[in-house]
Amino acid sequence: MDIVDKNNTESDLSVLVQSDKLQLLYRQSFPAIFVSLFNAALLAAILWPAQDHQLLLIWFSIFLVSSTLRLFLFNRYYKAAPQAQEVLSWEKPYFITLMLSSLIWGLGCVLIMPTDSPLHQAVIFYFLIGMSGGAISVYSAHRAMTLATIAAVLLPVTIYFLFSGEFIFAAMAIGAISFFISTIRATSVLGFAMHNNFLMTHQLEISKVKADKLARIDELTGLYNRRAFYEYGKVLANNSQRNKDELAMIIMDLDNFKTINDSFGHAAGDAALKQIGQILLKRLRKSDVFARIGGEEFGMLLPLTSLNVAAQLAEELRQAIENEVVSYEDQSFSITASFGVTSGICDIDAIVRQADLAMYKSKAAGRNAVVCDK
Ligand code: GH3
Ligand code: MG
Ligand code: MG
Repeated sequence: MDIVDKNNTESDLSVLVQSDKLQLLYRQSFPAIFVSLFNAALLAAILWPAQDHQLLLIWFSIFLVSSTLRLFLFNRYYKAAPQAQEVLSWEKPYFITLMLSSLIWGLGCVLIMPTDSPLHQAVIFYFLIGMSGGAISVYSAHRAMTLATIAAVLLPVTIYFLFSGEFIFAAMAIGAISFFISTIRATSVLGFAMHNNFLMTHQLEISKVKADKLARIDELTGLYNRRAFYEYGKVLANNSQRNKDELAMIIMDLDNFKTINDSFGHAAGDAALKQIGQILLKRLRKSDVFARIGGEEFGMLLPLTSLNVAAQLAEELRQAIENEVVSYEDQSFSITASFGVTSGICDIDAIVRQADLAMYKSKAAGRNAVVCDK
């Protein structure tokens, strides 16, 4: 019986965190496409009296094509609904289309800059700074993406203003550089916080799954414990009642186990419990529910099994235990067990009660025996 799944490695976790970040980007930037498109239309309208109309229309049309491309990508992404590491293959197309849009803003705005109107130049700068600020909130889950976007949007106009020869524009360019530097720090803090948030969510989920599994496992033998037996047993009993299928149960209790402990020591008794548990486990089917339900008592639920078949299995198990030699340090000893077998279509408590009664009859009959009771 598998106890706890193998640990998730750090690289598994980092892949999950990466895909969380990317998923967030896809979710957040869908509305951002429309905002950006609206801003481009607004800027074109503001520049209309000051710039060549054909140039503005070409710029806006190119931007429209790139926005459509992004919408098309988002549509495919939502249809594919990728999960976990599949999301990572959507990073490259996202990055390429984002860079395309950002450069149409950044480089494009330098090309449509009305050189003879300082007011319109200032308005363009205002739009680009606004777009860059927006990028921090939209893309902050992915630091490299945020910085690349802001650089693509701001760098061309910053260089253009730095070399414009006008003090006021050079000062604005220096302002843009200081904004970019503060962004490097802000994205580091934000990115770190988001990274940790995603990481902790996954670690918590993994811990919860592990804790749930451990709560159902017997520490000594590694088998299911009493709690798991009743939990999974209830499901088998319910299925049996619903489908009118026979469910069989075997209870096995080791004989004179107290004497084993007294003669060979508690640790030797522990070794015997582990060894006997494995003997039974080997002979059961995957569909059976098998657990250590008490100190030296084991329960087996066998779906779709008649009393006869269960009795035969119990007899095989009895002989296997009888023939087993338990070795612990330099001591070795044999052990026997008493079996109670029952079957029926009933609830879990009733079938356990019946099997228990049969097992006590086996003890009363002298132990090391199989007793059936229906
Ligand atoms: P019977 O044939 O009537 O079942 O006799 P018994 O001695 O097996 O039954 P009893 O109920 O008197 O004693 C059960 C013993 O099992 C007592 C307890 O110390 C021992 N036991 C229970 N859990 C463990 C365990 O985890 N490790 C060890 N070594 N012994 C255990
Ligand atoms: Mg016993
Ligand atoms: Mg007992």
